[in-house]
This record gives sequence, C-alpha cells and structure tokens, in this order.
Amino acid sequence: MPPPPKPIHLAICGGGLGGLALAIGLLSSPHITFTIYESASAFGEIGAGVGFGANSHKAIQLISPQLWERYRTRATFNGWASKSRTWFDFNVGAGPEEGKRIIEVLMDSEETQSTVHRAHFLEELVKFLPEGVAEMSKRVVSIEQPAGEQVRILFADGTDARADAVIGADGIRSACRAFVVGDDAALQPRFTGAYAYRGLIPMDEAVAELGEEKARNRQMYLGDNGHILTFPVAKGNIMNIVAFHGAEKEWDGPWVKQDQKEAMEKDFAGWGAAPSGIIKLLKSPDVWALYEHPPTTTYHNQHLALLGDAAHASTPHFGAGAGMALEDALVLSSLLPLCDGPSDIQRAFRAYDAVRVPRTQAVVRESRAQGKILDMRGEGVGGDLEKLREALDGRVRWIWGVDLEEHCREAVRGFWKGAGGEGAVEAA
Ligand SMILES: Cc1cc2nc3c(=O)[nH]c(=O)nc-3n(C[C@H](O)[C@H](O)[C@H](O)COP(=O)(O)OP(=O)(O)OC[C@H]3O[C@@H](n4cnc5c(N)ncnc54)[C@H](O)[C@@H]3O)c2cc1C
Repeated sequence: MPPPPKPIHLAICGGGLGGLALAIGLLSSPHITFTIYESASAFGEIGAGVGFGANSHKAIQLISPQLWERYRTRATFNGWASKSRTWFDFNVGAGPEEGKRIIEVLMDSEETQSTVHRAHFLEELVKFLPEGVAEMSKRVVSIEQPAGEQVRILFADGTDARADAVIGADGIRSACRAFVVGDDAALQPRFTGAYAYRGLIPMDEAVAELGEEKARNRQMYLGDNGHILTFPVAKGNIMNIVAFHGAEKEWDGPWVKQDQKEAMEKDFAGWGAAPSGIIKLLKSPDVWALYEHPPTTTYHNQHLALLGDAAHASTPHFGAGAGMALEDALVLSSLLPLCDGPSDIQRAFRAYDAVRVPRTQAVVRESRAQGKILDMRGEGVGGDLEKLREALDGRVRWIWGVDLEEHCREAVRGFWKGAGGEGAVEAA
C-alpha cells in the first residue's frame, strides 16, 4: 500500500467569493488544511447583484453539489417562464431608434443564467466553513519564501503566519500579486476608461415604471458611449441596475464614490423613456471606476498562486469575473488533493497556470472589447443594429460553453505530466 500523503497547510489570503469557494472545494481532502486570512473584520461583500452563466453554475456544482443546492435557494432566474432561456433582451436606449429591440440572446436549452445578491451568496459560502478556519482583520502586506522553509505571510498588524503554500485571493488590489508578477507594467490595475453606476430599486416600483416584462427579466439598453443593464435579484423582489458610461479623462480619487445621482442624470440626459425611468427611481447610486489587470503570463511563483481578481481582474462586460474566480477555485481544488505533500505543490500550480492563464486572459481582453460594442462604439460595429445583433449573439458563448470537467481533466493530465496541460481553451 502506498504511504499516506503528507499533510499540507494552505493560507488562503482573502475571503471573497473566490477564496471561500476554494476553501469549500478542499474540505473533502483530509490531508489538506487551511486558514483563511481576511483583511475585513467580518466576511462581507460590497456591490449588489452578480450574474452567473452556465459555466459558473457548473463550477459551483462541481465544487460542491450541496453548495449548488444552497445557491439555488438564493438565486434569481428570469421572472417569466417564457424568458428562461433569455440571457438578455438588448434594446436601443437612446437616439432615433430608441425603444427598438435589438436582439433577444437565447442560451442553449441546457444552459441557464441566474443572478444573486452578493451578500446572500457569501452568507451561504460561509455556512460551509468549519469552526476556526478563518482569521479576520488580517491584512496581508508581504510574502516571503525562504529557501527550504515554509512560506511566511506578514500582516499589517505586525504578526505573521506560515504555510506550505499561499493562495492570493485578495481581489483586484491584491497584496499577493506583487510577489508573483515581477514585471512592473503587469502589476498595477489600469483604468479602462469607463465607470459604472450601481444601485437597487424595489421591484414593485420598477414594475410600475417599466411594466412587468422589462422589470422582471434581464434587460440591456444601449446608447452611444454607455449602456444600462437591469436584472432581478432577491427572488424577484429587487431590481439591480448597473449603468456604464465612458470617461472623458483618467479616473481621479477613490474607485468607488457614493451618492452619485446628479452625475448619473447628467451622463444619461436625453436617453429614452425606460432608461430615464430607471434613473429617476434610483435613490443614491454609487459609481465604480472600472479597472483591469494588464496581461500577465503566470499566476504563480514557487509556493504562491493567485486566484480570481488577484490574478485576472477584468471589466464586467460578460458578467464573468466572479465566475472565473469560481472556475479557478474548481481547478485548484481538483489539483491540490493530488499532491503527495508540499513538494508537489509547484507542480499543481504549473498545471493550474497552463489551463487557467489562456482562458482568463482571454476573458480580460474580450470583455474590454465587449464593453465598446455595448457602448455602440465597437470596431466595425458602432451603432449598426444588424452588426450589433451578430456581435451580441456570438461573442459570449465560448465562456458558457466550456466543458469544465474536461478542463479539470486537462489540468490533472498536466499535473501528472509534470509540465503543464496542453491545448488550453482559447476564445472563439
Ligand atoms: C460593476 C461590476 C459588476 C460585476 N458584475 C459581475 C457579474 O455580473 N458576474 C460576475 O461573475 N462578476 C462580476 N463582476 C466581477 C466580480 O465582482 C469579481 O470578479 C469577483 O468579486 C472576484 O472575486 P474574488 O474573490 O477574486 O475577489 P474579491 O471579491 O475582491 O474578494 C477579495 C477578498 O480579499 C480581501 N482582501 C483584500 N485585500 C486583502 C489583503 N491584503 N489581505 C487579506 N485579505 C484581503 C477582501 O476584503 C475580500 O474579502 C463585476 C465587477 C464589477 C466591478
């Protein structure tokens, strides 16, 4: 009989959706223990709704079927049965053709899309954590990897901790990223030239303003240099709004600014009846500057790997960033249990890189281009409705259509080969 694997202790730095999903994915591996170090004083999510496509649903199911059951109790699907396969209805939001339906993008029959209030999903994730695995108010400031020793994690409060490996799941402004991405140009998030207003409206008010169909089912309103999307959350009791607009200059000040109603009204002045009605109902929207990470070729350095936004923060134009964090968590929780002990960890991280870098870098790149299309400024597309129809229908399917079981098998083959997977998934 082969000897049992040696114990591995991981530090998961960051308790957002990605870090917690990884923790849950590792619970069934008896030789792996972990501590989650979270900078906030309690688990919590900022922002309101988040959308998940077929790939994200599959990732949740594969990480933990029980988590999927819990997720479903919190998720919201399109309100009408006849809209169950509709990703979004795309409408002209401004200009002479205002009010026209551009296209209803339909998912394949086995695919689904749902939305959830971030805090609700996080609450469900936290319920799966065993007692004592999380330490709060632990802001990572530095990582050291002394030769032949465990990794040392240093915190802002002056304390430190050690682990056999570290997963940096600490979001777009990751402290861990600096210890992976050596190249300065790839390190800092960059402003993408756009920002997004976000807010919530009680569903009964939205229905009174927009009618049942538009309020209860996912919609987008496109105009020149901006687009507004709406979807139901909280089991259809609330409508979530994200309104994107192009910036005229570099972003100044904090990335999130509160109480931006006046600025929003100015940006969307002259838009049509539905967008204007939505803006009228929003009480006090926040505005979020949209940043992304420049391209990078690796997500690991020795015994430190990055996951989710820490690795590949993207604009949200495919609604896929959190889904990519879940996919990362799934792949890592398929690979790390194969390690016979700490000495195998780098092999797992190389195999992770080989499948995750191509797919997630493609999301970052293509999402930015998608933003331009949604702002009716896409190259060769502009505001031409026929071209928009084609672009909107075709550009997202490679994200949903990935075979995640095969994706994990490919990573596992890479692990056993010791040199990374082959034929990584590319954008269509
Ligand atoms: C406007 C907008 C809309 C979006 N819509 C969607 C959508 O519809 N669908 C979708 O899939 N994605 C969407 N996204 C993207 C999604 O929000 C992110 O991709 C996702 O939250 C990333 O999860 P994460 O766990 O990697 O990082 P985060 O959610 O950022 O979590 C990071 C965690 O690490 C903690 N932390 C930070 N620094 C440290 C430190 N130094 N030490 C310890 N802990 C630390 C934080 O407190 C936090 O808990 C959207 C993003 C934006 C901006």
